[in-house]
This record gives sequence, structure tokens and C-alpha cells, in this order.
Amino acid sequence: MSVREEFDAWAADGRDRGMEERHWHTAKHVLARMPVEPGDAVLDLGCGSGYAARALVETRDAGRAYGLDGAPEMVRNARSYTDASLRDRVAFVRGDFEHLPFEDDTLDHCFSMEAFYYARDPHAALRELRRVLRPGGTFHCAVNYYEESEHTHHWQDGISIDMTRWSRDRYREAFRDAGFHVATQDNIPDRETDIPPASEFPTEDWETRAAMVERYREFGTLLTVGVAPA
Ligand code: SAH
Repeated sequence: MSVREEFDAWAADGRDRGMEERHWHTAKHVLARMPVEPGDAVLDLGCGSGYAARALVETRDAGRAYGLDGAPEMVRNARSYTDASLRDRVAFVRGDFEHLPFEDDTLDHCFSMEAFYYARDPHAALRELRRVLRPGGTFHCAVNYYEESEHTHHWQDGISIDMTRWSRDRYREAFRDAGFHVATQDNIPDRETDIPPASEFPTEDWETRAAMVERYREFGTLLTVGVAPA
């Protein structure tokens, strides 16, 4: 299945809003860390419902926020959730991570939440981001599917797209290979997530249920921040 088929189906099922709800606990901390200044042009790579582009305009006064997604139904939904008052500053475009529809050095910052690992060619995607970001621009890349995050490894079983499972080190290396400096890398804990009842969420793979809970609440999402050199 292609990205388009897989995620068009998710959009049609309303999973875009479900992801927004779950990811917001973490995404809001990542967005708050971004050094966005009033008037900046920002991109949300793999935007799903489009919440991040809207938030960057509403709370950070971004001048122009683009949400890019490969699935036309995601783009359509994202537009439909966007209030008319925001439409002159928020735009949703269909596109692929490996071919970004922007000129060189035109974006101030890029955000991406739980999307980067779906890139067909993650190295090409990083080079594209490097190309479109102006010197000093940042890429805030948040992923909960990565090598050290054992509790998410099974995500690949439920999806037909090949997912990239890099380690923390590998993320930093790949960012540098693409020409970024790595400003920071750390984990954003999700202290608000509802841990499902034991009956609904088997924990045989864990020594104790408390260990699993701790993983979600404390270990959290890996955030790697790349800065385009001056
Ligand atoms: N960032 C959103 C959505 C995450 S789901 C959130 O936090 O909820 C990942 C999204 O990335 C999907 O909407 C999917 O269509 C998009 N995507 C995955 N691979 C892509 C690719 N190679 N090019 C463009 N979009 C892609």
C-alpha cells in the first residue's frame, strides 16, 4: 500500500483527529520550544489533521504556516478543520517528504510529529529540509518509534508502509550527514496519557505493569533538533 492509500484510509476513519488528541500532549511542548518569531514561515511535515500549523499561527503569530501531507484526504480534512479567519495564513499542501514544494532557504522553521519515520528515503527528506530552511532555521523532529523505544516496535506490524527505526545516535548522525547541526536531542515525557486498563492492554512483554507505565510517562518521545548552518 502507498502512503496515500494507507493514510487516506486513516483520514476517512477519523484517525487524524484521534492522533491529534494523543499527540497534542507531547506536540504542545515541542511547539513551545520552537524559536518561532512573529511573521515567520513554518512547515509541519506530515501534518495529519493540521493542528500544528494552526497552533503556530494562533499562539506564535507565524506569518505563514504550511502543513504538508502525502495523503489527499488528510489535506482535505486539515483544510476543513481550519477556521476561515486563519485561511490567509495557513495552507495545506499535498506533497512528499522527499520533494518539498518550496524554494531554497524560504522557511524559518519546520516541525514534524510522528511522521518522519514514514519517509521512503529519510536521508533525502533531511536533505530537502536542509535545502528549504534558511540559515539558522530549525527542524524539530519528534518520533516515538525508534530503536531504544521498545514498547513501540510493534507499530510496524499494523502498517503496510516500511518504517525507519533509527537509534538516537543514528538520528543525530543522519541530521549531520544532511548538513544540519544538532542543537539538542532529548525526550519529551507524556505525563497526561491515559494508561489503558490491564484487561485492554496486555503487558506480558513487561516485567511489571509499572515498568510499562513508566516507559510511557517518563521515557516519552524522542526530539531531535537540527539547525541549518549559517
Ligand atoms: N503529525 C500528525 C500526523 C501524524 S501521522 C500528528 O501528529 O497527528 C503521519 C502523517 O504523515 C500522515 O498523515 C501521512 O499521510 C503523512 N506521511 C507519511 N509519509 C509521508 C510521505 N512520505 N510524504 C508525505 N506525507 C507522508
